[in-house]
Amino acid sequence: MKIITTIAEARDCVRASRRDGKRIGLVPTMGALHAGHGALIERAVAECDFVVVSLFVNPTQFAPTEDLARYPRTFEQDKAYCEKLGADVIFAPAAGEMYPQEQITWVTVEKLTDKLCGASRPGHFRGVTTVCAKLFNITTPDVAYFGQKDAQQAVVIRRMIADLNLPLEIRVCPIVREPDGLAMSSRNRYLSPDERQRAVCLHHALEHSRQRAAEGCRDAATLISEMQAIIENARGRIDYINIVDTETLESIARIGQPCLVALAVHIGSTRLIDNCILDLK
Ligand code: AMP
Repeated sequence: MKIITTIAEARDCVRASRRDGKRIGLVPTMGALHAGHGALIERAVAECDFVVVSLFVNPTQFAPTEDLARYPRTFEQDKAYCEKLGADVIFAPAAGEMYPQEQITWVTVEKLTDKLCGASRPGHFRGVTTVCAKLFNITTPDVAYFGQKDAQQAVVIRRMIADLNLPLEIRVCPIVREPDGLAMSSRNRYLSPDERQRAVCLHHALEHSRQRAAEGCRDAATLISEMQAIIENARGRIDYINIVDTETLESIARIGQPCLVALAVHIGSTRLIDNCILDLK
C-alpha cells in the first residue's frame, strides 16, 4: 500500500491504474478510522480493482467554533487498518496541498443543504461538496463510497454528481453500530464514560420511532415528541429531530414510505448524529 501526500503523485498513480483498465474506488474520510469506515473500504476492495482511501480533515467544512483543532488524528493506526483491509493507496494531503491559496471557487448545492445539519452548520456542506469535487477531480474514481450515517451528505453528494454530470457513481453503505446500538463515529472518543452510556439514547429514540411506525402511528409530530422525551430523559440537548422525505429532505407531516428520521443531539459538548429509514413495507 502506498502513502501519497501530493496531488501530483495521486494523479500519477491513478492514471497508471486507469491505463491498466482498473476500476478505481475512492473512500473519502477524515481519518480516525473505525469499523464504519472499514465497511466502506471493504466494499470498495470487493467491487473495485484499485482503492484509494483519502484521509483529510477538511478545514473548510468546520466553522470557526467547531472541533477542527481537536479532531482526532490517528494516522499510524489508520495506515495499518487500510493496509489490513486491502486498500491500494492512502491519499493524505496536508491542508496546504488541498488549499494552497484562498479558495474562492466553491461548489454549492442549494435547497438540500439549508435543512437538518445544514441549518445548524452554515457553510458545512459547501466545504463538503467542494472538497469532494476536488477529491473526485484528483483521484478520478469510477465509484465513491459514502456512509448512510451522514444521510444528508449522501443525498447532497448524489445531487452534486447528477447536476454536474460527474463521471462516477456513488454507493451508500449501511450504518455500522457499536454492540449497544450507538452509531460508530470518530467523535465518540470525545465522550466521557457517563456520556458514552447516555449517547445510546439517539439509537433508542430511532428504534422507538421505528416501532411506533410499525404499530401504525403515522403522525410525524407525535413520533418526534416521543423521541424528544427519550433524548431529554438521557439529558441530551437536541439540535434537531426531523422526519423528512428521503430525496428532497423536506419535512413530512404523515409517515409515508420511505422516509428518513434524522437527529442531531449534543451529549455534553459532543454533537452526535444518527438516522434511520422508515419503510413501512
Ligand atoms: P468521516 O471520516 O466521519 O468524514 O466519514 C467518512 C465516511 O464514512 C462518510 O461517508 C461517513 O458517512 C462514513 N461513516 C462514518 N461513520 C460511519 C458508520 N458508523 N457507519 C457507516 N459509515 C460511516
